[in-house]
Amino acid sequence: MIDKALPPGSKIGIFGGGQLGRMMAIAAARLGFHVNVFSPQHVSPAFEVAHERTIAPYGDLAAVQAFAQSVDVVTVEFENIPLDTYEHAAKFTAIAPEPTALAIAQDRLAEKNFLTSHNIPVAPFVEINREADIVSAVYKLGPEGILKTRRMGYDGKGQIRLGGRVDPDAAIQAYRGEPAIFEQIVPFKLEISCLAARNYDGAIVFYDCPKNEHRNQILAESHVPANVPADLEKLAQAYTAKIAEKLQYVGVITVEFFALGQGTETPLIVNEIAPRVHNSGHWTIDACAFDQFENHIRAITGWSLGSGQRHSNAMMVNIVGEDMDRWREFATSEGAILHVYGKDETRAGRKMGHVTYLYEKS
Ligand code: AMP
Repeated sequence: MIDKALPPGSKIGIFGGGQLGRMMAIAAARLGFHVNVFSPQHVSPAFEVAHERTIAPYGDLAAVQAFAQSVDVVTVEFENIPLDTYEHAAKFTAIAPEPTALAIAQDRLAEKNFLTSHNIPVAPFVEINREADIVSAVYKLGPEGILKTRRMGYDGKGQIRLGGRVDPDAAIQAYRGEPAIFEQIVPFKLEISCLAARNYDGAIVFYDCPKNEHRNQILAESHVPANVPADLEKLAQAYTAKIAEKLQYVGVITVEFFALGQGTETPLIVNEIAPRVHNSGHWTIDACAFDQFENHIRAITGWSLGSGQRHSNAMMVNIVGEDMDRWREFATSEGAILHVYGKDETRAGRKMGHVTYLYEKS
């Protein structure tokens, strides 16, 4: 908890050195903060724009202590930071968000239980702890489902889609023995996400919900406006506000939704909660006066939040894997605002950068 707004010159620690940490560090530097990035990888995109770097495994608690003691507040750029590490840092400095938010986002079962306990709809699912559970899951929910590992799943990682006429034997073959859930396929019309920033006073600011398109289960494009009915967007914001309040959340939080269309019993189903800034909010850098990264920094340092209003319509396109070879084309195409993450190596499925296109606001 930060009692008084931290002045420029204060220090922020970020666990994780990826592109989200990089864009967060850039926003922090613009407000005059110094950033120390903690990452186990020697080459980390966030290191290049940080004041200080801590290179150590997350399990190195002495390094975690020194890192925490060197800053005024610690935050995370991704949710899979080991909880012990994050809680250890909390012994030496302020942290935001609270570890509970991470604990929930790290475990798909805990996340579903949290959401259902607050009457927020999720896809029908069955907990899988052994092979026999798959047989009963397929009987209960039907053969078309997704087997998702409970932990370390993002961008479709740890997911096996069982389409069509899959029998329980085939599902068992796909099961790798880890605690998992079997989730029914949701016949969604489109996917949207809701990004909100909440500060220590409980003030909350929303961005317009982007419509998100995935390819190979990785985000490919986000569009604002999403052109969904206003009441659907209001509902997404109401669910997000409830989640943020229940978690006493401080920082930017993102909730991913499946939208099922008007007239359905549950027009919105939560796919997952990301207790952090999010890829589907990258358009805010170019289309808003106060982007998601700045508002995250403002929230965790005890500042008032900037407006979430956008001045333009926007489309954000991810540059994934070999698409990065087209950088000249992106750099020279009219209206393309290019963001490159400075990753050491291009790999298939790896997010290398993004491009934002702005249009007149409708
Ligand atoms: P996740 O890693 O859970 O965010 O899933 C990545 C993407 O896979 C989602 O954004 C959806 O496009 C798709 N997906 C995940 N779960 C389901 C589901 N139950 N029904 C349909 N599509 C899904």
